[in-house]
Amino acid sequence: MGKIEKEIVFKEGVKELMIPANKVAIVQVGNSLEHALLVLIKSGYSAIPVVDRDYKLQGLISTTRILDFSLGIERIEYEKLGQHTVEEVMEKKVAWIKESGLFFKALELSINHPFLCVVDDEGVFVGILTRKSILALVHRYLKHP
Ligand code: AMP
Repeated sequence: MGKIEKEIVFKEGVKELMIPANKVAIVQVGNSLEHALLVLIKSGYSAIPVVDRDYKLQGLISTTRILDFSLGIERIEYEKLGQHTVEEVMEKKVAWIKESGLFFKALELSINHPFLCVVDDEGVFVGILTRKSILALVHRYLKHP
């Protein structure tokens, strides 16, 4: 890859590659764990973003975290699913990038995360960037430099 091509890859914005928020399965902090589990199972994803009422990014919720929380000593305590909220169980450390961020930063973060949340300047969730789409772009540039 030549210098100019490298600059194109590394200077590309993340917006172009993003899956917009209206196509992303999400839940809200106040939703019950039962609701979150239904959304997770129906969407087929193992982890999805969590937002607040103002659509600001707050965390990630996964099937594993919900099931782990519901585990009693000898059985899964399903009744807990209706009694507790997403906020109590979600992972608060989220890999995120601003929509004005650079592709290179996203590439670096995607080493450790299967997807990144994209937020605007106010922290409002605007979409996600998957490792898959990042790798597809890198592959395209390497194949046709
Ligand atoms: P993929 O590259 O399509 O396998 O997606 C990687 C991860 O990104 C998935 O396991 C989900 O956690 C998340 N993800 C991808 N697409 C969506 C979506 N439409 N809604 C919610 N989460 C998604």
